[in-house]
Amino acid sequence: MNSATFSGEPPATDAESSPFPKPSPGSVSIWQSLEELSWIPRPKLLALRRLGIERVEDLLTHFPRRHEERTEFPNFPREESDVPICLCGEVIKTSLRRFGGWKKIFEATLQESNPNALSEPLVCRWFNLHYVQKMIVTSQRLVVFGKPRLRGKRICMDHPEFEVIENDEEISIHFRRITPIYPATEGLSQRVLRSMIYRLLNEPSWNDAGLEGLAPRNLVPGERRNAIRAIHFPASWEARDAAHEYLVLTEFFTMQMLIASRRAEASVRQGEKHCGAGALLDRFLKSLPFELTAAQSKVIGEIRSDLGASHPMNRLLHGDVGSGKTVVAIAAMLLTVEGGYQAAFMAPTQILAEQHYDVLRRWLEPLGIRVALRTAAREEESGPLPLFAGHEKSSARGEPQIIVGTHALLYDKVSFANLGLVVIDEQHKFGVAQRARLSAREPTPDVLVMTATPIPRTLTMTIYGDLDVSTIDEMPRNRGKIVTAVRDESKLGEVLMFLRTQLEAGRQLYVIYPLIDESEKLDAKAAAAEYELWRERLHPFRCDLLHGRVPPLEKQEIVERFRRCETNALISTTVLEVGVDVPNATAMLIENAERFGLAQLHQLRGRIGRGEHKSYCILLTSAQAKEASAKLAVLERTNDGFEVAEADWELRGPGDLLGTAQSGLPALKIGNLKTDAHLMRRARAVAVSIFERDPRLELPENQRFRRLIVEQQGKTFSNVS
Ligand code: ADP
Ligand code: MG
Repeated sequence: MNSATFSGEPPATDAESSPFPKPSPGSVSIWQSLEELSWIPRPKLLALRRLGIERVEDLLTHFPRRHEERTEFPNFPREESDVPICLCGEVIKTSLRRFGGWKKIFEATLQESNPNALSEPLVCRWFNLHYVQKMIVTSQRLVVFGKPRLRGKRICMDHPEFEVIENDEEISIHFRRITPIYPATEGLSQRVLRSMIYRLLNEPSWNDAGLEGLAPRNLVPGERRNAIRAIHFPASWEARDAAHEYLVLTEFFTMQMLIASRRAEASVRQGEKHCGAGALLDRFLKSLPFELTAAQSKVIGEIRSDLGASHPMNRLLHGDVGSGKTVVAIAAMLLTVEGGYQAAFMAPTQILAEQHYDVLRRWLEPLGIRVALRTAAREEESGPLPLFAGHEKSSARGEPQIIVGTHALLYDKVSFANLGLVVIDEQHKFGVAQRARLSAREPTPDVLVMTATPIPRTLTMTIYGDLDVSTIDEMPRNRGKIVTAVRDESKLGEVLMFLRTQLEAGRQLYVIYPLIDESEKLDAKAAAAEYELWRERLHPFRCDLLHGRVPPLEKQEIVERFRRCETNALISTTVLEVGVDVPNATAMLIENAERFGLAQLHQLRGRIGRGEHKSYCILLTSAQAKEASAKLAVLERTNDGFEVAEADWELRGPGDLLGTAQSGLPALKIGNLKTDAHLMRRARAVAVSIFERDPRLELPENQRFRRLIVEQQGKTFSNVS
């Protein structure tokens, strides 16, 4: 077993430096189960559990999603507002109206507490919400939160959040202050949740030792227990902001310590050197019909020094579509082969695996390299038998030196004779868990992950924070430009005429038709209709149809026919998205483009502009989707994948980029990767500096961090395995 630095029990420490001291008897500890608190009604425990709240600490870190200014309420508005506001008033009338048969509107009219001559009542309306009408009656006082809108002459709020004011002794908890609003659930109202947290924070025998700061003081001055108090019940908005920053920094710090520990662990792990002298690589580079770009050479240099080092490589290769990552991968594999090891090249799909296999055969067979293809659908081996030995000293007779396959290869029992390098292509969903699986192999191979998905920097610091990153930030010269244009579908006629000029000039065309998700039901009939339509439109040019339901071998033939220019146009779903490389294809038409994400469109258009010809990407949008189409202007403006990624992120948020399972990191409870990006940078810098000084966390003052990491590892690996 490798020396796993951060697993198992940390060395014994004195109680003082441990962050988790035992509570003294009779007091509440933050690690205690909520069941042990008798004042929490038993049915509420169940509801709390639905929110994932089981321990005292969970409840204390059930952070408000926002706060309301309830110290003083503003006067009722007389105009609309795009910002939601918080108001308080008395219910003077309620009514229930039916419309369209079964639909109902419930209205509650509110009057200001101290009305004056100019005061207007506020009408709150809820559509088809049965429970609301049961909760609201006249003469109650309500706090509502929402956007006031002018409806006819009335000022209305549709579906406001609301809370009924009851004249209980707890009124000071819920009102006359900046009030926290929590994520709630059925059977657990704002009020109940708020009261519980309030009570918890004010437990007399409170043992908040576990709330000691776990992040260093130079990152977060002050006390964690104060921050926790202030995030729930802040004395002022400034106090809330300060508490928020404290807690976000702490959370990011924990995350970055975990990431830094993974890096540190990888760097002390023993591997083997997998690097030959480079003669084979030189021969390969000489045989190429082009010169490497400076960026490609730089990156090959970085990989080369990793391969030559005795600790395992863990590197991400980042390069926009068409930047030439495949050549870099081949260079890495050749160094490995010359070093006497096998290399595996894994693609996410059958089509891509086949494409890589072809390229590798074409380029490497003349060099005497044996390449094999292993996928679920097909197995093949090529290349000469080892007539002349030399760069294959340790591979057994007949063993392929490079194995191309789909990612399934990873999980197969396929045994490699002596695997030295694994290259994983086009896979931004290839997360920590999968990488961990590779690194667990004995002996540990070097790993190179390649992606064209441009990732905003904050995300690189997290998802790929444990990897070294190489970037190809330069496109090969003599690349034809890609011109992108957004067109309304009513212009299809003109667009077709233009596309035909491309076909007539001998170029080829992709048509992407709108089936966003391959799992979406596509019956053969609809596909056939699409195909017929396009055959007519493009007559007499030859078309082929590609979609997710086409069996793998047939798919392969279709792509091959297109590559050999036997077909002029490929009508396809997004199965084309990654990696397919046909330089003669210079035009792409994307139907219903507004239904795709920007990043996905950028990937798609990366299929063209791969040769010396100027290329054209036309995004056809439907007239009904004006707003959705507007965002596409970004693609007209720039071909830079990073700019597109940032814009896409703005629009959609990182959602699918940061699945927990993928990152293997704990879910964030308070920090926001987008709005708090600057805090992530600070937290990262501190975490990195701790590990620089003490890579194995051996110093006494770092023992609490060691504990922190062991704790976090327990949490994360349970949800990725
Ligand atoms: P990607 O980074 O998207 O995987 P590929 O590796 O498929 O890109 O390369 C795209 C195309 O560019 C291929 O046809 C490849 O042969 C070619 N190519 C790669 N590097 C260069 C270069 N330095 N100069 C010219 N063409 C190149
Ligand atoms: Mg590629």
